Amino acid sequence: MKKTKIGFVSLGCCKNLMDTEVMLSELNAAGYEITGEETEADIIILNTCGFIQEAKTEAIDNILDIAWLKTNAKLKGLIVCGCLVQRYGEEIMKEMPEVDAVVSVGAIHDIVEAVKKVEAGEKFKALKAPEEAAMGGDRIVTTPEHFAYLKIAEGCDNRCTYCAIPDIRGKFRSRTIEDIVEEAKNMEALGIRELILVAQDTTRYGVDIYGEYKLDELIRAVTEATSIPWIRILYCYPDKITDGLCREFRENERLVKYIDIPVQHINDTILRRMNRHGGKEVIVSAIKKLREACPEIVIRSTVIVGFPGETEEQFAELMDFLAETKFDRLGAFEYSCEEGTPAAEFDGQIDDDVKAERYDAVMSQQNGIMEEANSRRIGRREIVIVEGYDPVSETYFCRSQSEAPEIDGKVYLTGAPKNSFSVGDMVDVTITEAMDCDLIAVLSQF
Ligand code: SF4
Repeated sequence: MKKTKIGFVSLGCCKNLMDTEVMLSELNAAGYEITGEETEADIIILNTCGFIQEAKTEAIDNILDIAWLKTNAKLKGLIVCGCLVQRYGEEIMKEMPEVDAVVSVGAIHDIVEAVKKVEAGEKFKALKAPEEAAMGGDRIVTTPEHFAYLKIAEGCDNRCTYCAIPDIRGKFRSRTIEDIVEEAKNMEALGIRELILVAQDTTRYGVDIYGEYKLDELIRAVTEATSIPWIRILYCYPDKITDGLCREFRENERLVKYIDIPVQHINDTILRRMNRHGGKEVIVSAIKKLREACPEIVIRSTVIVGFPGETEEQFAELMDFLAETKFDRLGAFEYSCEEGTPAAEFDGQIDDDVKAERYDAVMSQQNGIMEEANSRRIGRREIVIVEGYDPVSETYFCRSQSEAPEIDGKVYLTGAPKNSFSVGDMVDVTITEAMDCDLIAVLSQF
């Protein structure tokens, strides 16, 4: 009997991607054939993001694009899941006849049942609270063969006033250290060379099940139980930079000297209106503590410009802080007024053109800071991980510890003959040139 072919489109963040990987694994185990060709698929599963307007628009556009395949190709069914469904599952089923089934974040383990219903020509809804979804489980890793993300916890309790994620992903819930170490060993068995530990707030790890922050202990457990060369952590929170975590950065050679720590702003009034835990002092001392513990650490951060009520003076304070702190990497977002969040009701909403001006100011200042940081690396020897070879430019594209996948630049290794290296190889190079957010390197001479 011909197997039903399932296609997947995964939108949003790496945490959403891991839900896709779990659903892929369950469908595969149930005997379905997974195809990468949308036009070949009988049923397509669209895993959506839905935390800001831009993401919602992207999800709706994808639904309409995929629905086109139902009339113009052989697609029989469209299943929509993920964060947009967690927020608007009922509305999607009511207002979008193109959609055959909706599966919320809390119901990802009902994906096989959803496919069976759609195969039978039925409409189907699985709308469960986010906490109902068991965490972990087998997954089909879809990131390139040399790195993988590992979700150490789900949900968030921080309740930043601009953010819908706690309502989408539910309360903060840590997986046990044993469960995570088991998964890390599975990743090692797949040949993963870089393991990236993530959560909505990675630094909150453990407090709900162990009564204290245990990210440092988790990192140590993963490094002791595996020999994965690079362990990286993303999405940290400034008020939870513990001494233990700093010790790991100082002493643990396989913990990548890189931290992603969104600060969002620096003005105390704005931080209070954002309900960010810890004010300016906490942020400044967290950065100082990290740099003292590990002088070579690369710090990535994120800020929001145009938050309701942000005055010129408060924005100038942010610009001064960024100029002084010199984050190695920085992302900026224009405040997005999200329905259902407290900040959406705040007075002092800022005009879009003012938000755009402030965004441009932050990013042009940051480009200068980043170029300076990159040019300081010229002449330095660094270990890079090979990600692939570009036959046109005859270069290997790589990353050092200073570049996280999918968000930062690349290190281009020139002058090394084709077939010298494979994806995942660690190579000793010397930086020769800086180009915007990318770098050029040659093989180090010993
Ligand atoms: S820490 Fe704040 S911004 Fe991040 S997911 Fe939690 S509530 Fe949202």
